[in-house]
Amino acid sequence: MTCVSIRHSAAIAVSCPDGSFVRRRRSYGGVRQWTRGGRRKGPQALRQEESCAALSVKNGFADEEEYVKAGGSLMRFVEMQERKPMEEQGRISDKLPPISAGESLFDLVVIGCGPAGLSLAAETAKKGLRVGLVGPDLPFTNNYGVWVDEFKDLGLEECIDHVWQDTIVYLDSDNPIVIGRAYGRVSRHLLREELINRCFESGVVYLNSKVERIIEASDGHSIVACESDIMIPCKLAIVASGAASGKLLQYEVGGPQVTVQTAYGVEVEVENCPYDPSLMVFMDYRDYTKQEVRCPEAEYPTFLYVMPMTKTRVFFEETCLASKHAMSFDLLKEKLLLRFETMGIQVTKVYEEEWSYIPLGGSLPDTGQKNLAFGAAASMIHPTTGYSVARSLSEAPAYASAIANILNSEKFSDQAAPWKRNAENVSQQAWNTLWPRERKRQRAFFLFGLSLLLRFDIEGIREFFQTFFELPEWMVQGFLGSTLSSRDLIWFALYMFAVAPNNMRMCLVRHLFFDPAGASLARAYLTL
Ligand SMILES: Cc1cc2nc3c(=O)[nH]c(=O)nc-3n(C[C@H](O)[C@H](O)[C@H](O)COP(=O)(O)OP(=O)(O)OC[C@H]3O[C@@H](n4cnc5c(N)ncnc54)[C@H](O)[C@@H]3O)c2cc1C
Repeated sequence: MTCVSIRHSAAIAVSCPDGSFVRRRRSYGGVRQWTRGGRRKGPQALRQEESCAALSVKNGFADEEEYVKAGGSLMRFVEMQERKPMEEQGRISDKLPPISAGESLFDLVVIGCGPAGLSLAAETAKKGLRVGLVGPDLPFTNNYGVWVDEFKDLGLEECIDHVWQDTIVYLDSDNPIVIGRAYGRVSRHLLREELINRCFESGVVYLNSKVERIIEASDGHSIVACESDIMIPCKLAIVASGAASGKLLQYEVGGPQVTVQTAYGVEVEVENCPYDPSLMVFMDYRDYTKQEVRCPEAEYPTFLYVMPMTKTRVFFEETCLASKHAMSFDLLKEKLLLRFETMGIQVTKVYEEEWSYIPLGGSLPDTGQKNLAFGAAASMIHPTTGYSVARSLSEAPAYASAIANILNSEKFSDQAAPWKRNAENVSQQAWNTLWPRERKRQRAFFLFGLSLLLRFDIEGIREFFQTFFELPEWMVQGFLGSTLSSRDLIWFALYMFAVAPNNMRMCLVRHLFFDPAGASLARAYLTL
């Protein structure tokens, strides 16, 4: 089989501009004017967003969940974040050999060149599979932070460009809680280069294109249809195109609602920074202003995430851990600037801005489908922290083994009759590796935690984390890194209940019995 051209129609996504914020942005790097004064959204602006939502759903998104995952009314910022120029990062096409016209059947095509796609392409090719990688040749633009021990275990410590030997949390007083764990800032450039090198060494070939759809061929193989009518035939396709992958994948119907973590970050040069450069501040939930809060939305709890590289060069990020309707970047920026004012921090230079939009929760991919998924596309984002990179990188080798087993099985041999490949879900083993019952139980637990967090005001959040950080170290670390088993998580819940104050206990019990997340949790634990 060779690559052929056919006509196809592509869905068009419509994004809603948010003029007030965009107009103030001058450039991404270097020195620039950087002012406060975000305009609050009035009812008219909100109505505009709603009608824009309806329009966008009509114009290309399968449903509301997909629209929200893609950025909803903040889509323009998601696109700005993805398109930030990163001069030091080279092009994938300069490093990997191209997929050329007339290419014969691939074992596997991996769609998407983020951390998940690159790591899985390298691991599957290492198993001897013939792997094609397809995705836009874009740099890594997100400012990734990781627990240093997790990256060391992955052999990636060389990709960390700054390490803080300890990490702290402020809740309501100036006495921090010390987590006792080193935190690192990932060099986007080095991580991407390392993953591309791994792809090169294992023989991955590459096409710089966007995938439009995946077609089931009658012989049981798949055809990956890309832009410019390029068709790539393969035995299996894996979607690693980020959280908004509904165009290429089916998701379970009736899953939990997607909520969103938004954060507005800046890397700046400052005067009067009160943070110790030897400590990373994971969360600072202290009051962000001494002034009276003026509008109800400003009361939604947010915290400051601080990476002080030196006494004067600091990355700050005002973060809304989770909210049903994404907190706007305007409001986050305003809160950050009020915080600077309250703390006496003066910004003298802005190096970079970050618009972090992370969908949390939502449905799992439908594991009855043949096409596979990985990373954020496979709902691997931790529902209460928004992290997925360490998990994707650590699970890539086992997932690659399961995929290699499938492709080396008799069903995919050249002599196998096509009906054998069509008769059942050939990908089941791989789906079971990614989402076994145990993982689904853990996820139900995290989703329960997420829906609980959504109920809290700032006092509730502080009380919750005060209790959380009193737990034994292995529980705290395991919860944050998704490494606690479903049984460990029961101990976690019992321990939390034991040390929590009475009002928090009442809240936990009420939530378990009366919130739908409680019923889902019980169902997940009772299903064998
Ligand atoms: C600003 C920001 C900061 C974050 N910080 C952290 C952090 O510190 N730690 C952490 O663990 N997580 C973090 N996350 C969350 C999440 O883990 C990341 O978004 C992570 O990049 C997900 O990796 P991924 O490879 O699954 O998807 P992505 O990184 O989203 O990569 C998907 C790739 O697929 C490509 N693509 C999209 N559509 C198509 C298509 N149709 N065809 C082909 N290719 C396509 C995209 O161009 C992209 O290259 C952050 C997210 C953001 C936005």
